[in-house]
Amino acid sequence: MKVMKFGGTSVGSAANIANVKKIISGVNEPIVVVVSAFKSITDKLLTTSRLAAAGDYSYEREFREIVEQHVTVVCKLDISEPQREKLAVEVNKLLDELSNIFKGVFLINDLSPKTSDKIVSYGERLSTLIISYSFSDYEVLDVTELIKTDSAFGKHTPDMELSNKLIRNAFENSSKKVLVAGFISTCKTTGEITNLGRGGSDYTAAIFASALDANILEIWSDVDGFMSADPKVINNAHVIENLTFTEATELCNFGAKVIYPPTIFPVYHKNIPIRIKNTFKPEAPGTYISHDGEIRKSKAMIKGISSISDSCLITVQGLGMVGIIGVNFRIFRALAKNGISVFLVSQASSENSTSIGVRSADAALAVSVLEEEFEKEISLGSINRVLLESELATVAIVGENMKYTPGIAGKLFETLGKSGISVIACAQGASEVNISFVIKNKYLRKALNSIHDSFFLSEYKALNLFIVGIGTVGGNLIEQIRQQQPKLMEQYALKLNVVGIARGRKALFCREGINLDNYKTELDEKGITSSPEILRDGIINMNIFNAVFVDCTASEPVSQIYGDLMSQNISVVTANKVAASSAYDNYIKLKNTARERNIKFLFETNVGAGLPIINTMNSLINSGDKIVKIEAVLSGTLNFIFNTISKDIPFSKAIYLAKESGYSEPDPRIDLSGMDVVRKLVILTREAGYQVEQADVEKNLFVPQEYFNGTIEEFWANIRQLDSEFEERRKKLESEHKHLRFVAKYENGKCEVGLQEVGQNHPFYDLEGSNNIIQITTERYNEYPMIIKGYGAGASVTAAGVFSDIISIANVR
Ligand code: ADP
Ligand code: ASP
Ligand code: MG
Repeated sequence: MKVMKFGGTSVGSAANIANVKKIISGVNEPIVVVVSAFKSITDKLLTTSRLAAAGDYSYEREFREIVEQHVTVVCKLDISEPQREKLAVEVNKLLDELSNIFKGVFLINDLSPKTSDKIVSYGERLSTLIISYSFSDYEVLDVTELIKTDSAFGKHTPDMELSNKLIRNAFENSSKKVLVAGFISTCKTTGEITNLGRGGSDYTAAIFASALDANILEIWSDVDGFMSADPKVINNAHVIENLTFTEATELCNFGAKVIYPPTIFPVYHKNIPIRIKNTFKPEAPGTYISHDGEIRKSKAMIKGISSISDSCLITVQGLGMVGIIGVNFRIFRALAKNGISVFLVSQASSENSTSIGVRSADAALAVSVLEEEFEKEISLGSINRVLLESELATVAIVGENMKYTPGIAGKLFETLGKSGISVIACAQGASEVNISFVIKNKYLRKALNSIHDSFFLSEYKALNLFIVGIGTVGGNLIEQIRQQQPKLMEQYALKLNVVGIARGRKALFCREGINLDNYKTELDEKGITSSPEILRDGIINMNIFNAVFVDCTASEPVSQIYGDLMSQNISVVTANKVAASSAYDNYIKLKNTARERNIKFLFETNVGAGLPIINTMNSLINSGDKIVKIEAVLSGTLNFIFNTISKDIPFSKAIYLAKESGYSEPDPRIDLSGMDVVRKLVILTREAGYQVEQADVEKNLFVPQEYFNGTIEEFWANIRQLDSEFEERRKKLESEHKHLRFVAKYENGKCEVGLQEVGQNHPFYDLEGSNNIIQITTERYNEYPMIIKGYGAGASVTAAGVFSDIISIANVR
């Protein structure tokens, strides 16, 4: 004997019913088929009831949808026309009854639990009736005669002994193919219609399987099996091949909707295995749930993660509780008396507080009954008021292997910590099959993703990148990432997932990763209107783990969102110098946030493009050295300009060429005014451990201020006036064998920038093209300072520097 249950997801349409018929036609043993209401019908019946009870006319529209859904299936069902007519009459009769009940509810504006139970029963009654016409060789048994319930606190529980007896009796003379409705039942004393709770068709099937000693219970749904997490939240969740009854109970009790929790006990009791199958992919093996679940074969530390989002935490707290016997007894007694179910309990050994997790719907009642119970203690002050925290979620990780593997709790909480999620309460039963914890609801998705990633996907590490700015640097970076993606995956098991791209006023977000082959078109076509604030909120709300914000703009407003992002544990990698050179307080706050949150704030490319300057300085300092002097040519643009000026290329043309070659800032005035070098020097000096502001830098400039005052067009027009002066200077320097270098310097607490004429013996004399040079004098590198020299500007080296910062976050070598 086999019991097969097909859920609403499997029987929503005539085509789906035909599909189910095909699946059951292959079964060669006695079979009981249990069916649910058509897809979403139970939800619609409840919504319609609520609207009608509230006197809202729109209940009629909702009801019409219910009617249409059934009428459509009747019309399309693969049966003869006379049969269809007969079926239509029967269906219409049920729908008329239902319509009358709704009218009554609408008129008296009242919906008793009894009426509500009656209304929802029509879902399964209609579906079973319609399906019975299609399964003409099946005998239909009236399940309301077979499953009898007791009632308490508005919930109905089956009387197992009685129901078992009734089912067994009914099957004594029944055929080998039986169809029954799931979910519905009747009260054993009043005979009124009841049900087994939302999702209860699974339970109906289990009760039949247990009563009839079936050899297997099959639950057919729209998923390939029991998954490692809800596939609607975690898109790379995988099917779990085997589960023990205990593991399955733990998972579904905690929100894995694929099985209604009470389903497991009746079959567990009789040692009848359960198989979860996909109606739409019957060839997939599904999940096998049994006593041993073949756990020993599985090496996985945990089997799955489940969660419930509508949680509240209630805490009874007070110094007067310490050492007093019976406080917990009173808490649970008061809750039990009021039918409130508790799914998590946490008490510290100091006994000063007890926290309990309840569903949001039960929270207000729970608080009021506890306040009543402890009224005296509260008035005396030995217990503080009962504290309610709402908008929480509870997550559980489950697996019998936890018993045999130390360190799982450590891994779990480390993962959460790294994602910046604080745990409000936690509980682990001594059976060590489940660790549960409570967090803010808004972090649920991120928590599930990071835990899933850390426990199941350890074969590779993922970094989720948001890239802002797709100009010369950003564009090059994306291209480099695109080219390197396969190699990084292969060599370092690192997956670089670009989940967001933005430029100007457009942003595109995609959790699954943006295809970098045509991201520009995607951004244009699917991008949303953006601003730094929209970007910030979008990224934070995406709630994604291992997130890195990559700023390839030169924008101040973009730099202003770093702090908010970092305080949500999002690392920042930036080619934008604004933040690191802004007010010292802001710079240090960002650095401290990164340290406190154990994330990264990296800006190696702020100075010397891809040259390893900041990293080198950090390494020197970390190893106990002290930087005493910095001398550097830090502007690739200015160096390019001074190296390019010749008798054929005047000053203004050299500036133009610097811009055209992508060396200069988008606005070359930032380079010429020395501003760019000032920023770089400030950043270096700060990284060397000194507190400086931009205003502290003494500037000896070579382009007078008036050239910077107007518009960019005026600048290009006027700058030519300086060509002849520079030509004179060039000729003179040529004869003296000297070169012009714009030098930045820090020494003895003083920062300065200015044009310097350097002779042939100076280390800065030979410095080609847009190269940078930096000479660092430290306590150790004193007589012969350390020199770093190379390309100091250019989109591709800068992009490579950004790329290398990103990779360093993944910690691969
Ligand atoms: P049915 O109508 O067949 O009873 P349900 O909607 O009750 O279907 O249950 C199936 C749904 O359970 C899936 O569509 C899936 O979104 C959800 N679900 C939640 N957690 C899990 C999980 N761990 N594994 C599989 N499905 C899950
Ligand atoms: N139709 C009922 C519900 O949606 C029972 C079930 O589908 O299992 O809750
Ligand atoms: Mg279900």
